[in-house]
Amino acid sequence: MALRFFNTYSREIEEFELRNPGARPIRMYTCGPTVYSRAHIGNFRAYVFEDLLQRHLELRGYKVDRVMNITDVEDKTIRGAREAGVPLQKFTKQFKNAFFEDAGTLRIKRADEYPAATDQRYIDRMIEMISALISKGLAYQADDKSVYFRINKFPDYGKLAHFDLTQLQSTGRVKHDEYDKEHIGDFALWKAWDEADGDVKWDSPWGPGRPGWHIECSAMSMALLGDQIDIHCGGVDNIFPHHEAEIAQSEGVTGKKFVQYWLHCAHLLVDGQKMAKSLGNFYTVPDVLTKGYTGRELRYALLRVHYRVPLNFTWEGMNEARESLARIDEWLARLRKCSASVSLAGTKDRQAGSMPYTFEDALDDDLNISAALGFLFESIRETNRAMDQNEMDAISANAWLDWWKRINTVLDLEAEIDVTVPEEVAQLAQQRENARREKNWKRSDELRDQISALGWEVRDTKDGSKLTRRTGSA
Ligand SMILES: [Zn+2]
Repeated sequence: MALRFFNTYSREIEEFELRNPGARPIRMYTCGPTVYSRAHIGNFRAYVFEDLLQRHLELRGYKVDRVMNITDVEDKTIRGAREAGVPLQKFTKQFKNAFFEDAGTLRIKRADEYPAATDQRYIDRMIEMISALISKGLAYQADDKSVYFRINKFPDYGKLAHFDLTQLQSTGRVKHDEYDKEHIGDFALWKAWDEADGDVKWDSPWGPGRPGWHIECSAMSMALLGDQIDIHCGGVDNIFPHHEAEIAQSEGVTGKKFVQYWLHCAHLLVDGQKMAKSLGNFYTVPDVLTKGYTGRELRYALLRVHYRVPLNFTWEGMNEARESLARIDEWLARLRKCSASVSLAGTKDRQAGSMPYTFEDALDDDLNISAALGFLFESIRETNRAMDQNEMDAISANAWLDWWKRINTVLDLEAEIDVTVPEEVAQLAQQRENARREKNWKRSDELRDQISALGWEVRDTKDGSKLTRRTGSA
């Protein structure tokens, strides 16, 4: 079955087809954090979804070039730095670091590039783009010295959000400075410096100022991935005006279709409500860890619901995540034990076709993770039953472990391996390695039992033997 995704642009499930399949990697752009505070778990829901998407594409044999921007200059970062009384770079650095720390906790694969908006290379690119838009009549400098995009000159404006432009004229509060614009919906490409910006400014043909948020993403995606990208992701709140503006800017400059597939992740709610600091239901990754949960448990809780369905985060849900992972852990421990069993009596080759490839098929279907996990737990039930009845042989157990290894490249949910192996265990493992090298299988098995008695399991892989703590041992 072919890969297919719901494209926000067409509002339809579309088959995923690359322009030059196989000839080049998939170009994927994902809107990153605005580093004025620590990202919350709602932001991370979107990042976990993007991680799942990238990993599934890779499982399906694609190479993915992914860029995630860091927005380190816009109104909130400037205000935050001013209030903290520190330079902008110093203020944003702490939240950049926090972002990478939290992404690591959630096992999110690193993007290939994390461009920062304040990098002079990209500022230059933004200025070039704005100049091009002005020369095409798609942008203008207003009396307030800022430069705006002229949305009336871009007929496709509103197509992504399925938004009627006339609505913009009748609703919304008009700020004083908005009168400088030709149309209420015109958005800033370059914001003229004012006192509140302090020393945050760059020179431009339109005077000192700073870029608007939207042009940052257009310039950085084009600089790193080219004029046309395959997949652009973000949260649903990015659709309008941010992504709509990105299309207008990029296509305004190049005249080429900017993005082939737009994928957006739905909101995260907490106890059925919108997350807000004022409601006391606002959580960051460390907030969840402080309650005694692990990053792995939070990863599971964030990825287990289909990305287009709002995710209701609850502590009960976190406990369910813990239980689900415990089931996986126990299952893997049983399989490993079974795979290491010496007796090959009754071995029957497992048919390749009997492995549940439905897991991958479910993800092909617009990343249907709930169905994929359903297949996983159904397989766990079945294989546990087989092990209960002593119907699982070593070869089958190994086949299941290989299957898990394959799907875990997408899920990344295996328990952390405790690397602090006690000295005594390490020495026994070394002696066992030596015994194996001498083909002294009896001695090797004795040592395995001794290691096991100390609460550790030794597993022979093609990369040598590996030690893991046995489930249920302290
Ligand atoms: Zn963006």
